[in-house]
Amino acid sequence: HAKESGLGQLKCFEDGMRERVLRQSWLENELRLALQEEAIMAYYQPIVDTRTGQVRGFEALARWKHPERGFISPAEFIPVAEDAGLIVDLDRLILKQACQQLKLWKAEHPHLQDLYLNVNMSSVQFSRPEFAAVVQSTLQETQSEGIHLHLEITESLMLQRTQMVAEHLQALHDLGVKLHIDDFGTGYSSLGYLPRFGASALKIDRSFIRDILKAPQQAELVRTIITMAHNLGMTVVAEGVETIEQQQWLLQEGCDYLQGFLFSPPVEHSKARSFLIETLEV
Ligand code: C2E
Ligand code: MG
Ligand code: MG
Ligand code: MG
Repeated sequence: HAKESGLGQLKCFEDGMRERVLRQSWLENELRLALQEEAIMAYYQPIVDTRTGQVRGFEALARWKHPERGFISPAEFIPVAEDAGLIVDLDRLILKQACQQLKLWKAEHPHLQDLYLNVNMSSVQFSRPEFAAVVQSTLQETQSEGIHLHLEITESLMLQRTQMVAEHLQALHDLGVKLHIDDFGTGYSSLGYLPRFGASALKIDRSFIRDILKAPQQAELVRTIITMAHNLGMTVVAEGVETIEQQQWLLQEGCDYLQGFLFSPPVEHSKARSFLIETLEV
């Protein structure tokens, strides 16, 4: 009976909705607690120089290990943090941890003065009046230098053309902090804004890298992005590099930096340090 099955579907839909809403509000409450307790931790994924294979820096990625439920993926909790207005605190917590870590690594290994860290920053930060001041005070408190901090932002920030965003960009520039455009190619930004935006690097999204050896058109797209970035004076980082074949292709095409499971997944600071020492010794 058509009507019954229609109602049945509606019920299923409602059940699914209810479950999702419950899960969201559970996540939101737990996340709020985790942030208060600083129970969210930065993990570090190496970014290597394509030519030498040496680690040049790390991307800090938020990891949340729930006391009962174990690890919860950023793919799940970042959108919740954004909706609940918790992303600002989360980003700042990771920024603080990352700067402290960088300071420790440099104190231990004085020859690593050029090591840098990439930290993800939600576009929402840029509509907070205190944002640039928070970055500045975090750098001061951790005795870190702006030139070793790269903030990863998404293309959506390029569309937020307000006075406040412009002021933050200028303040970050004055601190020496560089901007990397994350997941490049997946957003809806207008390419026209790119030259004026002042980012120092493009990170080509993993979804493009995945198919470079399988789909000639994807390869052509990546080649074009690399050329364009270089012509605009930007460096290029490939995300999600998983195979030696991809590494070789990217080397041949002049991609500057690589990041991906081929080298290491994001790991806790002690493992990141071992990785750093090992690759620098060879
Ligand atoms: P993202 O910034 O583009 O980070 C790269 C993601 O790709 C990470 O996922 C990383 O674990 C994953 N990845 C790296 N190499 C490979 C690879 O070779 N293969 C595959 N399959 N995956 C790889 P993760 O850590 O789950 O983070 C997902 C997203 O969550 C991040 O994407 C970023 O947008 C967001 N995120 C994570 N931490 C933070 C944070 O502290 N603040 C903000 N605002 N966003 C964050
Ligand atoms: Mg990122
Ligand atoms: Mg990325
Ligand atoms: Mg990505």
